[in-house]
Amino acid sequence: MINKSAAALPKSYLFSEVGRRVGEYQKENPSANIIRMGIGDVTLPLPKACVDAMKAAADEQLCAATFRGYGPDQGYAFLREAIADNDYKAFGADVSADEIFISDGAKSDCANIQEMFDNDCIVGVSDPVYPVYIDSNGWNGRLGKFADGKWETLVTFPCTPENGFIAAPPVGKRVDLIYLCFPNNPTGAAATRAQLAAWVDYAKTRGAVILFDAAYRAFIRGDEIPRSIYEIEGARDCAIEFGSFSKSAGFTGTRCSWTVVPHSLTVEGEPLHALWTRRQATKFNGVPYVIQRAAEAVYSKEGAEQAAANIEYYRKNAAAIMDALRGMGYPVWGAEHSPYAWVKCPQGLTSWEFFDILLKRANVVCTPGSGFGSCGEGYVRLSAFNTYENTLEAMGRIAALR
Ligand SMILES: *Cc1c(COP(=O)(O)O)cnc(C)c1O
Repeated sequence: MINKSAAALPKSYLFSEVGRRVGEYQKENPSANIIRMGIGDVTLPLPKACVDAMKAAADEQLCAATFRGYGPDQGYAFLREAIADNDYKAFGADVSADEIFISDGAKSDCANIQEMFDNDCIVGVSDPVYPVYIDSNGWNGRLGKFADGKWETLVTFPCTPENGFIAAPPVGKRVDLIYLCFPNNPTGAAATRAQLAAWVDYAKTRGAVILFDAAYRAFIRGDEIPRSIYEIEGARDCAIEFGSFSKSAGFTGTRCSWTVVPHSLTVEGEPLHALWTRRQATKFNGVPYVIQRAAEAVYSKEGAEQAAANIEYYRKNAAAIMDALRGMGYPVWGAEHSPYAWVKCPQGLTSWEFFDILLKRANVVCTPGSGFGSCGEGYVRLSAFNTYENTLEAMGRIAALR
């Protein structure tokens, strides 16, 4: 009766354990002013243009002439066109509005996309990694048994200082479904054109499919780092991409995202666009009209400026974290095209040992890197989603530890 694979999923213990340790410490030290640098959620409010658009769309629902019921399966054309123009064509990526599927979250789409593939596909992920890619495949029995902290058939790509936390494609190893996330959560690493091209080349040669999570693309500055896998030649034949308004415009509680499935992407002659269309028609009834209007407003002049100002605020925090920690001699990665700094623990400490020191001696909460995979051991993630004042205060406290 029960889905044995689902029931066998290891307990996700990272954030509950962080919460438990912080709660316990706060209870013992009620006056401690704890600064949370583990935050994986935005903290600034929505752009005003988005809220205005949401209100106007809500008013339309009062009148039969403008009321909306079920929307189009793939999402409203006004939003798909705005995404195609502003997030793809503007960066030289060939993606049409018809290839975009509006959804309620990059997380759900990342987790659901594996339904299109056979259960004997070999799945490959980076280590450390956003856990959704693994758990969604484990849930559906695609990773074999979980024993000794490892999934039987999962392939992991170790991300280390040697490769700058960006793995190259495996040599002589079969992987069918490749999850890539750039800029990366948790390491903050941002892949170059050449690094992505190597993956596209691998996927095309092997008939593999790349599942590219671009949730943090809004943090990229300059022309060096591609914002989309479709900026790479050939990606339209081997890659699906996930985008989200969560981190780009503060929609984590508002919920709107998209998935690109190019018309030219086929697996064993089967066009994935048609298959994903069928999947969505079967299991999804769309994102509310008012929310899609709010998302569209991210591309208006005011909306774009307001969203960009929020991103700049977080980027300034990230830069402050990086500068401060580097100044103290900590090796730090990420934090440039990303809201996350990936920090090496000093003196060979484990992630949890350093977590406890930061919590108890600096009253700063981080996220232990080991919670994202075995290669994350010995690192912690600090996030830029707190206030600028708290970020500086936290850095001052960490400096005082030395
Ligand atoms: C935050 C985040 C997302 C966004 O998910 P939504 O469901 O769109 O809020 C996707 N991928 C990664 C790696 C993230 O950290």
